[in-house]
Amino acid sequence: MPELPEVETIRRQIAPVVEGRVLRELRVDDGRWCLPLAGAELAAALEGRRLEALDRRGKYLVWRFEDEATLLVHLRMTGTLLIDPPPGTPYERVRFRFDGPQDGDGPVPELAFCDPRRFGTGELALGGPVLDAFLDARLGVEPLGPDFTGAALHALTRGRRAPIKAFLLDQRRVAGIGNIYADEALFRVGIHPLRPAGSITRAQAGELRDAVVAVLTAGLSAGGATIDDFRHPDGVQGAFQNDFQIHLRRGEPCVRCGTEVVKLVAAGRGTYVCQTCQPPPRGARVRTPARRAA
Ligand SMILES: [Zn+2]
Repeated sequence: MPELPEVETIRRQIAPVVEGRVLRELRVDDGRWCLPLAGAELAAALEGRRLEALDRRGKYLVWRFEDEATLLVHLRMTGTLLIDPPPGTPYERVRFRFDGPQDGDGPVPELAFCDPRRFGTGELALGGPVLDAFLDARLGVEPLGPDFTGAALHALTRGRRAPIKAFLLDQRRVAGIGNIYADEALFRVGIHPLRPAGSITRAQAGELRDAVVAVLTAGLSAGGATIDDFRHPDGVQGAFQNDFQIHLRRGEPCVRCGTEVVKLVAAGRGTYVCQTCQPPPRGARVRTPARRAA
């Protein structure tokens, strides 16, 4: 599933292609994408408007059109955006066609939203207050922004009994972290994913904040991680999967201590842990999914 680094990688590639251009056509082939609006309603609201900026908040791509019309795109499990995809690109659900360059006959950029599992969404917010309400209801602090400090993370965890991994995955607390980057950050600071969030000390919160920023930044530098269906808009693959220290390493020796990495279930997700470097909390019921027969 695309997380903050993958979504930001897509944003950085697409923004220079589309910012400042007028959306000429928005064709929604799969009406589920923009429910409760019909595809034609969404197109009517956005066609003919100039895209002022393509931003990101958490895992949302925030398409800021003129007159405060905003399209909020979420890739969910398998969504991606491709620049000038060839005809017949599989799993295409939506196509965007923008104006050509002002000064000539250059190519007209097109984008396709492709999504094998079809959980991705495109939602419309009209007006600044509606946009703010949409984002505030769904997204907490931005982990690569100035408000994400150790003290802020410590304060957010106070009184929270949820396991720290579930806390990190809750987009309403910290926006943008998913399964990969939560595993990697917790391993780097030696915190077991099932520890209650509220038990994290102030010092640990500071270390965890730094680890979250470090793994997200490393993921961004690598152009994201390519597992499952994530692709860059130009088809290039991210490389952060080659730098995983714990994620997907079940059965391998821990890179720090040599203990075998195990896979648990935390927050309903496959979770990779070294139970020497990341001691389980007392009384934790650690569930390990059955290993498939080799
Ligand atoms: Zn270890």
